[in-house]
Amino acid sequence: MIDVAIVGGGVVGCMIARKLSRYQLKVVLVEKEDDVASGTSKANSAVIHAGYDAKPGTLKAKLNVQGNPLYDEICRELDVPFKRIGSLVVALNEEEVNVLEELMERGKNNGVPNLEIINREKLLEMEPNITSESRAALYAPTAGIICPYELTIALAENACLNGVDIKLNSPVIGIRAESGGGLSVETPGEIIHTRYVINAAGLFADEISRMAGAEDYSITPRKGEYLIFDRRFGDIVNRVIFPSPTKISKGILVCPTVDGNFFIGPNSNDVREKDDVSVTLQGIEEIVRGARKLIPRLPLMHVIASFAGLRAVSNTNDFVIGASKKVRGFINIGGIQSPGLSAAPAITEMVVDILKEEGLELKEKSNYNPGRPQINKFRLFNNEEKKELIRRDPVYGRVVCRCETVTEGEIIDAIRRPLGARSLDAVKRRTRAGMGRCQGGFCSPRVMAILARELGIDPLEVTKCGSGSEMLKGRTKEFIETGGVKSAK
Ligand SMILES: Cc1cc2nc3c(=O)[nH]c(=O)nc-3n(C[C@H](O)[C@H](O)[C@H](O)COP(=O)(O)OP(=O)(O)OC[C@H]3O[C@@H](n4cnc5c(N)ncnc54)[C@H](O)[C@@H]3O)c2cc1C
Repeated sequence: MIDVAIVGGGVVGCMIARKLSRYQLKVVLVEKEDDVASGTSKANSAVIHAGYDAKPGTLKAKLNVQGNPLYDEICRELDVPFKRIGSLVVALNEEEVNVLEELMERGKNNGVPNLEIINREKLLEMEPNITSESRAALYAPTAGIICPYELTIALAENACLNGVDIKLNSPVIGIRAESGGGLSVETPGEIIHTRYVINAAGLFADEISRMAGAEDYSITPRKGEYLIFDRRFGDIVNRVIFPSPTKISKGILVCPTVDGNFFIGPNSNDVREKDDVSVTLQGIEEIVRGARKLIPRLPLMHVIASFAGLRAVSNTNDFVIGASKKVRGFINIGGIQSPGLSAAPAITEMVVDILKEEGLELKEKSNYNPGRPQINKFRLFNNEEKKELIRRDPVYGRVVCRCETVTEGEIIDAIRRPLGARSLDAVKRRTRAGMGRCQGGFCSPRVMAILARELGIDPLEVTKCGSGSEMLKGRTKEFIETGGVKSAK
């Protein structure tokens, strides 16, 4: 019998898995995709918000403010880059200056430290590329930036190392309360018998709750589109720059990434499908229009990629967190829209308290390890360190991704690590191979060859992101021999 089964390998599920892995428990995490961080946690603004935005009294406000300061220790332990660069909400007219005052008041009520409204001169000094139309800004020094999928993968690696069984490609298709107590969680491959289920299924948490016969709530996907720019322009802004917020969104921001790029976005539009992450021309026009209000001279020629993410908006418009009153042992964590990433550490603490209240005994393990094996990020090393690494292991001397300077050694390590990469996207999220200016045009075939070799599979079996996304159709010579296009279909 498992103690806790977690449904969903996003940042919330993985952070809870890691936290529980410090106790003497049997924990399983089931994820429907071929990797963790495949849902909302892979495509968002990556901001650890200060916490002035959410309405006082909501879970969103409370858990954001509690979660923010916990990031320093988590990132230090897992060696995940986190930069507390601060954020600025920019007012362009008198009305918006009033909004800043409201936000500052709200922030103080929420318990956000060190908020300050700065004047135009100071703002331009801090951010020389910002529009001269700006009047003032709310400065929140505690806001930070992170890479959300690197964080999620690091959490999962650590949970894995500490004994959590992470089952990928395992969609939950049924949950039932068992007559003798406990719950059974069904995936196509097996039935997991468990004392507790934690529903951290993101956009699908409402469906999982319904499947278990627990509380009924609904989740609407709200799409946000983005454009990301070449690293050459990464210093166009120094902090996270927000416009004055609207009723439904924090607005289109201009924001540096921890990896040295910058992005603009997101917009905010409700969509029908929970997998609609398409980027539209209309969406691009909307975010460019929005971002230009803050930074008029955007280097649009140097956009390297577009992407979209879906917010999981609940009908309560707040996080839905709590033990089910209907199904014993079932715990909901639904509607984790923004600031869910910022709040994740505090959500985790809250869920652990709920588990305790529900009768789970938590005994610390003596051999818990808070870290994960070191990653040799070649491009960040100085020349001496590079030489030493290559001397120890010559595969680090072979650069596979030229744009991001990712070596064969790093790709092999990504495949062999705990919860190793099994697809092109999984390698990309772990190493950045394919994230640069050419977007994998040069390195993808090489990464595919390394994956095939390391996994002992045929190159035709290498996928982009799991079964059904095979990258190759056939061998060129067979293709010619069998008559070309027609027979290749
Ligand atoms: C446009 C946008 C911008 C955002 N910006 C920020 C920000 O700057 N700061 C911030 O704090 N937050 C932000 N957020 C919110 C943040 O991204 C989310 O709160 C967070 O990622 C939610 O994590 P999660 O683990 O709940 O969900 P997810 O990451 O979606 O994880 C849920 C997982 O469950 C899996 N799953 C679903 N159904 C099943 C099933 N049946 N069986 C097994 N597994 C299943 C999914 O595949 C997925 O991996 C933003 C969100 C969006 C969309």
